Amino acid sequence: MPKARETVLEIDLKALKHNYEYIKSKLKSNTKILAVVKAFAYGSDANEIANYLQNLEVDYFAVAYLSEGVALRDAGIKTPILVLHPQAINFKTLIERCLEPSLYNAKILNEFITIASKEKQSNYPVHIKFNTGLNRLGFGENEVDYVVSKASETSAIKVKSIFSHLAASEDLTEKAFTERQIKTFKSISEKFSNAIGYKPILHLANTSGILNYPEAHLDMVRTGIGLYGYGNSEKENEHLIPIATLKSVISQIHIIKKGETVGYNRAYKSDGLIKTATIPIGHADGIGRQYGNKKGFVTINGKKALIIGNVCMDMIMIDITDIDCHEGDEVIIFGNHPNASQFARTANTISYEIITAISQRVKRLIIDN
Ligand SMILES: *Cc1c(COP(=O)(O)O)cnc(C)c1O
Repeated sequence: MPKARETVLEIDLKALKHNYEYIKSKLKSNTKILAVVKAFAYGSDANEIANYLQNLEVDYFAVAYLSEGVALRDAGIKTPILVLHPQAINFKTLIERCLEPSLYNAKILNEFITIASKEKQSNYPVHIKFNTGLNRLGFGENEVDYVVSKASETSAIKVKSIFSHLAASEDLTEKAFTERQIKTFKSISEKFSNAIGYKPILHLANTSGILNYPEAHLDMVRTGIGLYGYGNSEKENEHLIPIATLKSVISQIHIIKKGETVGYNRAYKSDGLIKTATIPIGHADGIGRQYGNKKGFVTINGKKALIIGNVCMDMIMIDITDIDCHEGDEVIIFGNHPNASQFARTANTISYEIITAISQRVKRLIIDN
């Protein structure tokens, strides 16, 4: 890996391949894989990741919003793309770009049927989402007959899949709840397939669902965080490799005397002689103010340096009193050691939040060797 000379997010495609193959090794050979590449592929680079996974013959992609699906189509992605949370205002474009909507309530189902009919579509692939306990999006268990009758009375759409989402697949103290969700979804699926007269693809499990509940793999699994190298426990993390490493450099070193302060609002007050380094990354890059004032830390030559004072928009200051380092030296914010999960924990959050927060201002550097 090259030494960073500015703030960069390195994306290691070999690590992605490893994670993909690890997840695949947990599945039966005929279980399909849907790769979740929403939010810039969890803050990495959606085009690069989707293109790489398309070459590995992944079965499906999912994004949250229309614009993310359009960007993938613009980048030449031909694999089917499920849009998890589409808005009716975008349905015409969605159809033009061959993106497939998740339909989760009567309003959005009817709006989609109206537009698909107007656009003279037949058997347009749609995905019906059921709520089995997350209480976020989805038809209720008691709405199976309604959806089937709506889908049967038009030729404009065809139900390609039915799915649901687990609320606590990473939390084994909620095993009974998750097992109930799996059971509910299986009963919805059976009822739905019987009533509609064909068998849509069934999918339920996210990454932790894949790792913790083999009985929930069904026809297809949806993996996001696992592809990017994180599970939701130390045990899950053991077999995965973080694909993204956030690096920066030391811009300037200061000697701070007792009684002097560092940064805005003079938030850090020195009670002795210390040495600080200023790093070109700040809250506009995704390192929020909650990491300041000795919560978060970065790593230089393998040594931990606490962030002191307030995080600025474009900079942080760190305490390097006990570290032998120089201006221009490389700084690791997260990667393998510490990983994003460990970094996130210092601010009481999770890997998902910190990796997706790294702003588009930070250059992405693709590594493929
Ligand atoms: C984001 C998302 C996923 C991916 O979950 P991971 O925990 O990252 O594997 C799967 N399904 C749905 C509906 C999602 O919104």
